[in-house]
Order: sequence, then structure tokens, then C-alpha cells
Amino acid sequence: MKTRTKLVNLGRNPQRFEGVVNTPIVRGSTLLSPTLAHWQEKNRRQAEDDFGVSIYGRFGTATHHALQEALTELSGGYRTMLYPSGLAALASVLTGLVGAGDHILLTDSAYAATSQFLQTTLARFNVSFTRYAPGIGAQIRDLIQPNTKVVLVESPGSETFELQDIPAIAKEAHAAGAFVVMDNTWGTPLFFDAFKHGVDVAIQAATKYIVGHSDAMLGVATCNQRAWPAVRDSAHNFGQTCSPDDAYLALRGLRTMELRLRQHWASGVQIAQWLEERPEVERVLHPALPSHPDHELWKRDFTGAPGLFAIALKPIPEAALHAFIDALQLFGLGVSWGGYESLALPFAPVGREYTAWPYAGPGVRLHIGLEDPQDLMADLENGFAALQECVALSAPKEVALV
Ligand SMILES: *Cc1c(COP(=O)(O)O)cnc(C)c1O
Repeated sequence: MKTRTKLVNLGRNPQRFEGVVNTPIVRGSTLLSPTLAHWQEKNRRQAEDDFGVSIYGRFGTATHHALQEALTELSGGYRTMLYPSGLAALASVLTGLVGAGDHILLTDSAYAATSQFLQTTLARFNVSFTRYAPGIGAQIRDLIQPNTKVVLVESPGSETFELQDIPAIAKEAHAAGAFVVMDNTWGTPLFFDAFKHGVDVAIQAATKYIVGHSDAMLGVATCNQRAWPAVRDSAHNFGQTCSPDDAYLALRGLRTMELRLRQHWASGVQIAQWLEERPEVERVLHPALPSHPDHELWKRDFTGAPGLFAIALKPIPEAALHAFIDALQLFGLGVSWGGYESLALPFAPVGREYTAWPYAGPGVRLHIGLEDPQDLMADLENGFAALQECVALSAPKEVALV
């Protein structure tokens, strides 16, 4: 089956639920068995990670299991675990794969909260980490220590959008017995096949494109067979669970995910190209544009690009950045992304060793939503007009870096 057909059909079994098209929201803590033999059989199947049975709400009900099965099938992994947020998935997976004295290799452009988790919580448990330049490729072998258990990759990186040569990194990591854990929130299983490229655990903030409507928090980790037992046990030991309502929203999101992503992709590229011509813009950081330094890797490994990218503005006074953002009517100002609506968020990467912001002007991360791109460009044009007006009125020396 092609992806679009899978997205319509995965995780649905109408005849199990009186014929309703969508797997219903099954709420439950206790799940009763009619006989002791039935109870024992269910427990035996649960121990084998059979998602067709539910023995306790903490391990999920039919709604969760439908989503887990759908995501596993979509990603080509072995099993999928669900979490209350994307960050919970990252934290739980890492905790499952390392112990005291172990070491993690972390891409320098990782999501900031991932770095924070390593710097604070895991450091207290004597797990060390080393940052590496995202473009390191096979040279990662020089950084692998005897105690390196995980190489964490994220491609493209948060905010700065560097791509990584995941197969080259995975080859070295596996030769040393380490796991490759990927934050695949940007690529999603639709645009980046993590398992084909050597990843052991593919994590996504389902909050973003899977849910797709900015109305639920959810994390997912799809594992290969080697990583699964440790990832499962960590989630179970920490009592990780999410609500069936949110799992339902994620299942609903899957049905339109391909259509939405295709539009995010087309509109995103159109607007990114338009921005490259704008005099206010120093640089557009979009992997699907030929001007991106890692564009060849994107062409080699990805099958699409969602609506998230960044621009570096030319140096402007702080007030002009405010004028730009405040003039936008269609682009909302807020964190997260992957919903149907557009967002614009100024940022400045912090704590980076190899990927510090090289531009004199501020960065603005854009999420291109499902609005008409002409309307979005008109909105940005209004923003640029307000920016220009402010620049004309300001003293030339004060420069905004966010
Ligand atoms: C948003 C995001 C996360 C965290 O997801 P939450 O659901 O907000 O916890 C992790 N990684 C990346 C790349 C993200 O953009």
C-alpha cells in the first residue's frame, strides 16, 4: 500500500466497534476479564507486546493501541511507545538506553530542551555527553568513547536547520555498539524514513504534524527490535501514559497528514523562495532550497519538506523587529508548530558550540500553515513595510539580536 492509502486505513477496525469508522475513545483504568483463563491469556499476550489486548489503562486501551500500530506500520519499525509530550518521549528513551557512567553524543543543533535534559537531569545520574558538529558524518568515530551508548541525531537541527549524514553516523555508532536515537519531528515518517537510514529509535513530537491542529500534546518513539525492550521498560517503569482523547486526536490527524504536509511543503518552498528576494532578508535556511548548504543531503535522504524553516534578517534595531512581528496578522506569535496555522517566532540559538548564530541580524522561525500563500506573502509584506518604516525612523547604531 502507498502511504496515502495507509494513512486512511491504519489503526482502524470498524467491526470491532459496532461498525463506526473511527476507533473510538476508549477510556479506562480497570479492564475486566470474564474468567481467570481469559485474564491469564491476556497477561501472556501483553508480556509479548501484543497490542491487541489491554490489561490496564496505564498500558493503553484500544485507542492507544490503534495509534501505536498505525505509527509502527507507517514508520517501518518494530513497536511504538506513546508519551504525554515529545520531550517526555526523548527523556524516557534516553533514560532507558543509558546508565550511570555512560556517555551520549549530542548534535549541537539539538532541540534546546533535549540539551537541557542531558545537562541537568542525566548529568546528576553521572551520564556525560559531548556535543558534536551536525555535519560531522563518519568523523563521529573520533568522538565515540568505550562508554558511548547513544548518538543523538536531529536533522535538520532546531532553529539552524543543518542536515546530518545519518547513514554515515549510524554506521560508526553501530560499529561501536551504540544506539542511534533520532528526533524526526521535522521529517516525520512521511518525508524521512528513519529506519532505512540506520536509526534505532525514531522520536517525534506528535504535538506537531501528527496531531496537526495545535490542540494536543503527544510524543511517540518508534523502535527497532534491538532498542524496544529498554525503551518499553523505561516507559513502563516511569508510568508513562497519555490520554485516549489525545491518542484519538493523533489518529484523526493521521488521516489528513499527507495532504497537509504536501501543502505545507509547497507553500513553504514558495514563500521561502520569495523571501530570498526580499531586501530585508540576509539568508533563508530551508533545506529544500538549492541555496541551503546541505541541499544535496536533503535530495539524497528526504522525500519532502514540511512548512518549518528560518530566516536571518539583516541587522535592524530592536524596535524594527517588534514592528515586523507586531504588524503580522496571519502569522501567530508562539512556540510549537505543525498545526494548520502559520507562526513567526524570533529566536537566538543558545548554548551552541559549533552552530552559534553567524548572522549580525536576528533569526525568525516561520511555520507556513495551510492558508493561501498569496495571503501569507501579503502579510509578510505588511510586516516588512512596518520594519522599513521603523528603520527609517531609528538611530542606525542600535542592533537587534533578539
Ligand atoms: C516541539 C519539539 C519537541 C518537543 O515536543 P513537545 O511535544 O513540545 O514536548 C522535540 N523536538 C523538536 C524538534 C520539537 O520541535
